[in-house]
Amino acid sequence: MKILVINAGSSSLKYQLLDPEKGTLLAKGLCERIGLDGPVLKHSPAGKDKVVIEKEMKDHQQAIALVLEALTDKEHGVIASMDEIDAVGHRVVNCGSFYAESVLIDEKVKKAIRDCYPLSPLHNPANMTGIEACEKAMPGKPMVAVFDTAFHQTMPEKAYIYGLPYKYYEKYQVRRYGAHGTSHRFVSQKAADFLGKDPKDLRLVTLHLGNGSSLAAVRGGVCVDTSMGFTPLSGPLMGTRCGDIDPAIVPFLMSQEGLDAKGIDRVMNKESGVFGVSGVSSDFRDLAEAASQGNHRAQLALDLFAYQVKKIMGSYIFAMGGCDAIIFTAGIGENDDLTRAAICEGLEDLGIKMDLGKNKGLRGQDADVSAPDSKVRILILPTNEELMIARDTMAIVNKL
Ligand code: ADP
Repeated sequence: MKILVINAGSSSLKYQLLDPEKGTLLAKGLCERIGLDGPVLKHSPAGKDKVVIEKEMKDHQQAIALVLEALTDKEHGVIASMDEIDAVGHRVVNCGSFYAESVLIDEKVKKAIRDCYPLSPLHNPANMTGIEACEKAMPGKPMVAVFDTAFHQTMPEKAYIYGLPYKYYEKYQVRRYGAHGTSHRFVSQKAADFLGKDPKDLRLVTLHLGNGSSLAAVRGGVCVDTSMGFTPLSGPLMGTRCGDIDPAIVPFLMSQEGLDAKGIDRVMNKESGVFGVSGVSSDFRDLAEAASQGNHRAQLALDLFAYQVKKIMGSYIFAMGGCDAIIFTAGIGENDDLTRAAICEGLEDLGIKMDLGKNKGLRGQDADVSAPDSKVRILILPTNEELMIARDTMAIVNKL
């Protein structure tokens, strides 16, 4: 089976063509600057050279047409015709409380995605543009929506209701939704396989640490808490996002700096995090480099990140009454041995003991880096959200 996975942004469109049964990638690519000057399609067919195609992309419709052209091209294509694509899986950021799992896209699902525009005003409309462009380009092809928020729908009320007047939950659905759900689900299933255990018997803390970072408490295979909230701004500080702060800082800075709602939103989303603290970079490689040369604020930003992640991880272990394994994933989790070590440092008395030798230099591969006498397993499991989307799509299409 061949599944096309689409992740549409407002001016971009990422795609992968996968065989979910074998877990193989046939091609992947990215359309950038859709609707802007200088649009470009970067297409990487497996086992062949990457090609860069510069052609007009007025809208997502034209972009998807170019993607299909690239996939079926005689030279750099990987399939003979569009008919070989069995179905399309779409990443959709937010489905509010409508769905707790992936679904076949129909008019009702599209209405739910539209109803969630206020909850995710940048992402959901862009995701919808991708869906509609694919529907036009491939009429009749089954399409599946895989939601970032769905995995977190199992959270109990006490984990998702905020201490605000309840009427705002009823009126505007202000509650915790979480994000990165597809990744947390993928690595928690992979952890069960890796450990040879039934997910029902496991209490896991999954740490998706990348440009955006979130943690999830996963008990018995379902999410019971997560650090991203109404939006992807809460949790530990991130690349450029502030994470959890005293909410009273918001009106204080607005009045001191003369910022409006958009202005403070920009500060919290784009100018904060390890970038804002260090004044150096949002990239942990740059921070480690600067810190090694004695830059105090770069070191401070790294310390803040490890400390905040550690505290949230601790709260989830308490919430679940214990933990069988901690899973590191995404850009930082998979690659940054120093940050992984800093997060686990000093937890030996709690049965969390990393083998620093095993952890050192380990990048992007499945591994158990816990010491033999660690009560809690410490795993590194690279995430693969596209494969998860392709698997969900296949499962739904197989039932049609
Ligand atoms: P996104 O949230 O955009 O998907 P990723 O999960 O790809 O992000 O994570 C990107 C981040 O991972 C980079 O900004 C960088 O901080 C970190 N990262 C990637 N490779 C390394 C590395 N070798 N060492 C330390 N940090 C790394």
